[in-house]
Amino acid sequence: MTDRLYYHDSFLYNFDAEVRSVVETERPAIVLDRTAFYPTSGGQIHDTGWIVTGERESEPGGRFRVTEVAEAEDGQVVHYLEAPLKNLQPGTHIQGEIDAARRRDHMQQHSAQHVLSAAFVRLFNMPTVSFHMADDYCSIDLQIDNLDTPALNKEQVESAERLANEIILENRLVEIRFVTRDEAAKLGLRKLPPAERGQLRLIDIRDFDLTACGGTHVEQTGQIGGVFLRKTEKVRQGYRVEFVAGQRAVATARRDFDTLTETAALFSAGIYDVPQQARKSLDEIKSLRKQLEQTQEELVAALAATLLAETPEDQGRKLVVRTFSGRDLNFIKLLAQKLTRQSSAVIALLATESPQPALVFAQSAGQPYDMGKLLKETLAKLGGRGGGSKELAQGGAPTAQGLNAALAAAAQSLGR
Ligand SMILES: [Zn+2]
Repeated sequence: MTDRLYYHDSFLYNFDAEVRSVVETERPAIVLDRTAFYPTSGGQIHDTGWIVTGERESEPGGRFRVTEVAEAEDGQVVHYLEAPLKNLQPGTHIQGEIDAARRRDHMQQHSAQHVLSAAFVRLFNMPTVSFHMADDYCSIDLQIDNLDTPALNKEQVESAERLANEIILENRLVEIRFVTRDEAAKLGLRKLPPAERGQLRLIDIRDFDLTACGGTHVEQTGQIGGVFLRKTEKVRQGYRVEFVAGQRAVATARRDFDTLTETAALFSAGIYDVPQQARKSLDEIKSLRKQLEQTQEELVAALAATLLAETPEDQGRKLVVRTFSGRDLNFIKLLAQKLTRQSSAVIALLATESPQPALVFAQSAGQPYDMGKLLKETLAKLGGRGGGSKELAQGGAPTAQGLNAALAAAAQSLGR
């Protein structure tokens, strides 16, 4: 088993060790006799850093980037390295360097999780069943089986956030203790892990939280900086609560503020007026859309009347063939309907070139043709897709090229 130095000191960023074994796989890896590198486990993600050789004059030098650290089943800590291994072999003396900024971030997030989980238990008796740390946010899953409070509401989230930040501001001591399982059972831990190990590592946030954990934590709660609760969502067992702590909270607040500032500038408003301005704009869009629909309806009706007036009757019916541009499918469809309903003997073959090339074929009830079939034949020439009934059919073409010729051919087939 690798001796885990971080168990006793989370702020140990540099250490000496000896290579125990070298794993030459696709990704080269080494096992050390002792390490301060934290392997991914218990919801916390691994450290990164460097392995340095050549500090002793008798050994050749090298600097290897540690890209991942994992826990093997036998309890060994495996360090995955970026560069091909040279001069690293069992017995080589090395120096380990932890990426301190990344470790500090992990300590802030993980310690915040302890405080937050304890806050939810104290305030609402909602235990944490799992913890997840991603690159830019963290989350805990709260188990909610109390039927009196089936949902997690905004006030509860804010109360837990307030209590957690008070505990952070009080700068309470965070101590590491090792006890036997029997001792731990008497101490009333927030969470007792399944019976595996004889000895347990406890994280004791003075007079607030006591739990078993193998992760890296701050020494005093003030080092967490602060915690900010974000999204909550219903999950199978209860609720998932996203949070950010320390520098992550600052980075997130910075990003939120920039986004809000950019949005406010679009409205020429202050940031706190954005919801009101957005609501106003949406109402305006809704009302304008209604006006537009009404205007279009009137325009189409007038256009239909004009087209019918200027189209001569031929073989007892009127054939209207027309290509538009800058009109959408809905417009030509509406026009086709108006044309074929205003008179009992009309066939309309309409197309639009833009914004999206489309065709609508329609005939008045009682006319003998099959618009669905005719449209399919026409679209086949254009490489488009569509269909419909005998009376009305619509479809789209990939480009406007050949649209007019195809329309003319369709009209021709009707005996124009
Ligand atoms: Zn922990």
